[in-house]
Amino acid sequence: MTTNDNDAPMPEHGECSICHDTYKGWGNNAWPINDGWCCDACNWFVVIAARIALMQKGRQMTKIDGVCVHPSVTASRIINEIEDALYTLDNPGICIACGASATDCEPDARQYRCEECNRLTVYGAEELLFYIG
Ligand SMILES: [Zn+2]
Ligand SMILES: [Zn+2]
Repeated sequence: MTTNDNDAPMPEHGECSICHDTYKGWGNNAWPINDGWCCDACNWFVVIAARIALMQKGRQMTKIDGVCVHPSVTASRIINEIEDALYTLDNPGICIACGASATDCEPDARQYRCEECNRLTVYGAEELLFYIG
């Protein structure tokens, strides 16, 4: 996502793109709500709140032992793998770096080698639930 900083000159008055009130003075960049401009009130109460939320989202990216967890590794996927394993008697594991499924992991496996990406980033499914959920 870009901030659209240079595309449009900052208007001295205009219609707020969020509440559609007319504002006087300098508008505020309404990113990430939209690509337009907004009044001071919306800037403080809507835009800045949304930017803070975005930043917090970025910070919450789960890391395990310094490795960013692949987006496909979600709590519901881990639970599915564990449930499937009840029937197949596999020991499921997941590579947190590339998201590949692995088998023959102890439930508390950590840093096993991934056959897909060859990194030491396979964790037992039950172990992963401690981190993701
Ligand atoms: Zn407004
Ligand atoms: Zn992998």
